[in-house]
Amino acid sequence: MSTRNSPLVMVNLPPSKVDNKIKIVGLLISVWESEWSSTQKGETTRKFFPNVKAARILITKRPSNNIAQILTAHCLLNAHQHKFGFVKDPSCSCGDPIEAIPHFLFFCPTYNNIRREFKDITLEVCNIWPPELSKMPQSDVMWRAMKSFVAKSKRLDPNVQLRK
Ligand SMILES: [Zn+2]
Repeated sequence: MSTRNSPLVMVNLPPSKVDNKIKIVGLLISVWESEWSSTQKGETTRKFFPNVKAARILITKRPSNNIAQILTAHCLLNAHQHKFGFVKDPSCSCGDPIEAIPHFLFFCPTYNNIRREFKDITLEVCNIWPPELSKMPQSDVMWRAMKSFVAKSKRLDPNVQLRK
């Protein structure tokens, strides 16, 4: 059968630039995902972002300095500062023995008043307090509430350090 006059002619065209770009991006993400899941580094960051896809929020919601400290655990909280020998004591000014990120975000009584909105919104979205850290990037309202809490606390502002 001649295809010359047929309206249904299959032609093998080379992939378009867009097709190639999609394939390359997909390949890069799978390599990135594989490396992300196999590394032992960035323990806190991995709690917020268990996989690469979860970290896409960072494309549209660029983290402030304070939020970057929270996401990486490279922060001004005493637990981290103590680990590197910058402070003698990892405890919190409230008396808790370890001023780490979960204590600061969810439990420290010093910030109970300014944490109220963050807690209320989180309970509304997740129905649990404290939430798993991986839940935070999944909700715009929780993310904004966490960001607002951290900013209002001023605890991670290098110019407003709490002194013991
Ligand atoms: Zn505390």
